[in-house]
Amino acid sequence: MIRANDFHRQWDDIGPELMHAFEAVGRSGWYVLGSEVCRFESALAEFWGITHAVGVASGLDAIEMGLRLLGCGPGAKVLTSPISAFATVLAIIRIGAIPVFADCDDEGFIDLDQCSRILTADRYIGFMVPVHLYGHSLDLETLRELRDKFGVSIVEDCAQSIGASWGDRPVGSVGHIAATSFYPTKNLGAFGDGGALLTHDAGLAAQARVMRDYGQSMKYRHESVGYNSRLDEVQAALLYRAALPRLPQWTEKRRCIADRYRSLITNSKVRTPSPALSSRSVWHLFPVRVPGDRKRSFMEHLGVCGVLAAEHYPYALADQPVMTNVSFDAPYGVDNAREFCASQVSLPIHPYLTWDEVDQVAAACNSWD
Ligand SMILES: *Cc1c(COP(=O)(O)O)cnc(C)c1O
Repeated sequence: MIRANDFHRQWDDIGPELMHAFEAVGRSGWYVLGSEVCRFESALAEFWGITHAVGVASGLDAIEMGLRLLGCGPGAKVLTSPISAFATVLAIIRIGAIPVFADCDDEGFIDLDQCSRILTADRYIGFMVPVHLYGHSLDLETLRELRDKFGVSIVEDCAQSIGASWGDRPVGSVGHIAATSFYPTKNLGAFGDGGALLTHDAGLAAQARVMRDYGQSMKYRHESVGYNSRLDEVQAALLYRAALPRLPQWTEKRRCIADRYRSLITNSKVRTPSPALSSRSVWHLFPVRVPGDRKRSFMEHLGVCGVLAAEHYPYALADQPVMTNVSFDAPYGVDNAREFCASQVSLPIHPYLTWDEVDQVAAACNSWD
């Protein structure tokens, strides 16, 4: 079967380097918040083009802490995407803040024109968590206009879009804070959980370092209500020594696979993504759309052809059962998101796919009717 990810091939490729990195941490005798985390943070900031990076325990924590650092608290309204990993909205809910969903556009991205209308109608919305979904960049020019016109504080959810840009501008550079994840399936995956917050603001970065470590500004001096949300030395070492150096080549491979899918898939019932030309995507996923009532048939057909397809995501965030117990708002409804989710299927895309496998996936799409 051709899978969405192939961690065995990754281990075959970089296992020895990972073992070496692990041994270095073991021998150092220092396991939490040490020199490996420092080095990784500097390298990540440099790679990204945002001045400061702060390692934390997960992408969820990065979003939640990012919002709290910007002053988001219980009852605050946070405008966000209707389709994402549940963590995006969970971060808002955990603070006691109120998610406000905008609907999505044809590519599944938050509709920024609708955001403008929502922000015009409700000046009480002070925060925004836009998601750069599937590895593409949202229109950062428009996002910047929203930020400046409405004075919203923004945490950009870059968990799927590390390395993506809008023109020359990296994702995460318009918001006050960028949040990302090193969950193993992400483009820069750790070997367990991890995440980071990035910002150009030195003050915010310093506060994030305090917040991730029980709110202590120095040993045994607790200034604020913090978290235990630290990136381990082991994860930082594995990321810094083995994964981050390969991210450019891994991303290039994803881009080539996406190009190939887009030229080879000719079945008119299978619509391939067409992100904006200014988005220099990193293709975290390759979502296609089929007529909504045919999704099961398409996925079964792929299965018979040896391709394990996935869904990102089967339901709009607002439709998850837990949301019946949570207050949220969706001024224009989320019908586009529902329709999108009903028709969306993800084809395998990862750096360890072979070209034969890519061709096999494309052929499976073309032989479905
Ligand atoms: C994975 C992901 C997250 C959450 O990251 P974790 O590290 O799993 O907490 C948040 N948002 C998006 C868009 C994601 O893909």
